[in-house]
Amino acid sequence: MKVIPLEAFNDNYIWVIHSSDTNAVTVVDPGDANPVIDYIEQHNLSLETILITHHHNDHIGGVQTLKNRYQCQVFAPKRDNQPFSDQDLVEGDTVSVLSGEYQFEVIEVPGHTLGHIAFYGHDSLFCGDTLFKAGCGRMFEGTPPVFLESLQKLAGLPHKTKVYCAHEYTLANLKFALSVEPENDAIKKEVEHSQSLRDKDKPTLPSTIGQELEFNPFLRCHQDSVQQTASKAAKTKTFSDPVRTFATIRQLKDNF
Ligand SMILES: [Zn+2]
Repeated sequence: MKVIPLEAFNDNYIWVIHSSDTNAVTVVDPGDANPVIDYIEQHNLSLETILITHHHNDHIGGVQTLKNRYQCQVFAPKRDNQPFSDQDLVEGDTVSVLSGEYQFEVIEVPGHTLGHIAFYGHDSLFCGDTLFKAGCGRMFEGTPPVFLESLQKLAGLPHKTKVYCAHEYTLANLKFALSVEPENDAIKKEVEHSQSLRDKDKPTLPSTIGQELEFNPFLRCHQDSVQQTASKAAKTKTFSDPVRTFATIRQLKDNF
């Protein structure tokens, strides 16, 4: 499956999924219509579908313009109740795109927002602002147990799953990850790798679930090293509760 990132705003990526045998494409979270229109016109493509993960404007801002221009279908989370949605999605739904070439399973991942969904299929995960490379989204609407459960759902996907998240936050996330686990060699190695990509102006994405399990502190709340940092920050004796650990390091990250 050919997946191309389009840059939008300061650090958003709009992912474009290409059909293997026609000029049709699907885009995920077009917060801005312009980069999508430019790409489509330049490459003589046809926009068939838009997939939406959640209601923030940097993910939906371009939808209506694109829909008016290309008469494409829009799939969005049911809970967000969007006027532009042609099909409202809930957990376990399957969306079929590009004339049935690709199917994605809908996974509800509340936490960043309550209606947030992710799309999973073909060894690929489009997860919006829920899971980032080496980090996770801010907890705007959810609570720690809810958000952690969502992240654990994603952590349970096969290790080879490619993680297509919506922002280039990797270097800042790794810096925080290293402050949580200063001894973690996977983080140190990834800092070098991601820095070299950014030096060449390349995206650090996608990562994989297997990699995230090694260097993403928010997927490592059951690890002693992460729990020790959380306990120290909370100024209590060491606790081993993953939810409390998640709540504490999420708060640390907010103030990092
Ligand atoms: Zn968001």
